[in-house]
Amino acid sequence: MSDYIDLHTHTIVSGHAYSTIKEMACAAAAKNMTHLGISEHAPKMPGSCHELYFANLKIMPRQIYGVKMLYGVEANIMDYDGRLDLREGLLKRLDYVIASMHLPCVKPGNVEENTNAMIGALKNPLVDILGHPDDSRYPIDKEAVVRAAKEYGKVLELNNSSLTPTASRQGADENDMDILELCRKYKVPVLMGSDAHYEDYVGEFSQAEELLERAGVEDELILNRDYGKLQKYLKKAPLL
Ligand SMILES: [Zn+2]
Ligand SMILES: [Zn+2]
Repeated sequence: MSDYIDLHTHTIVSGHAYSTIKEMACAAAAKNMTHLGISEHAPKMPGSCHELYFANLKIMPRQIYGVKMLYGVEANIMDYDGRLDLREGLLKRLDYVIASMHLPCVKPGNVEENTNAMIGALKNPLVDILGHPDDSRYPIDKEAVVRAAKEYGKVLELNNSSLTPTASRQGADENDMDILELCRKYKVPVLMGSDAHYEDYVGEFSQAEELLERAGVEDELILNRDYGKLQKYLKKAPLL
């Protein structure tokens, strides 16, 4: 695998991940990846970092071991209106924002509530990517979410970790197949994310790729292979 971009990765800073930024970049370089994004969990995730971590990312180098680096966040959707746990001033300074629902931060609601939460996040102009909308614990109206992504020009994530046998997000395979079919119908772009919590999993997209193939998703909808194409969807990320 080469020339792949991975924007969904966590380091020791997230509190339940096990490598450093340098180790993640080293792993990306070994896989000939061109771009790596670090997206720590935002502060409401138990054990993750203080907001100062995000404020100080400006000191970080744009290249490590030859890999072009992006610095974002995986923000937590905190309620059924889609509010996030990082203030606007900080979200604005990051290269990109993934918004996701996690059990320690928002209790699963009914279909209407979960759908509202995701659409609320998609409406937020500072959000670029909706993370793992495939979680059976948060059932949604998939068509409404995919249509909202289309309407607001956002990217849907196909999360490789959701598809692994040890995943806590059970039933993701089936949900992702439905979502991918809708992405094809509405021409919504898809970004594979490894959701790596350890260096070995950086750029690991085996299950996601298999699913993309099974769902017959056209290459032009997949954003992992061409940073120029991806960058058009990331309102704040520099062209690296
Ligand atoms: Zn995590
Ligand atoms: Zn997540």
